[in-house]
Amino acid sequence: MTGDRRRRAPPPEPPASGLLDWSGSSHWDSRPRPCRYCGKPARLRDSKGSPAHKVCAEEVLARRAAEAAEAYENERLH
Ligand SMILES: [Zn+2]
Repeated sequence: MTGDRRRRAPPPEPPASGLLDWSGSSHWDSRPRPCRYCGKPARLRDSKGSPAHKVCAEEVLARRAAEAAEAYENERLH
């Protein structure tokens, strides 16, 4: 007899480029502090130990990458 148990194991998420891995305990604090980007309470810490949301930091990273790409494009056009 076979059981009809459906396992709901989530599929492993592949590491996407541009996304930060803040799963380490060094990125977590028990006390929320204002995010350095949006000011809302965040329990996450960035690589320098400053309070920040992962999404906020990723947004800044993405913006910086876009700006760098734009600057590169402009340089190439000259
Ligand atoms: Zn934030």
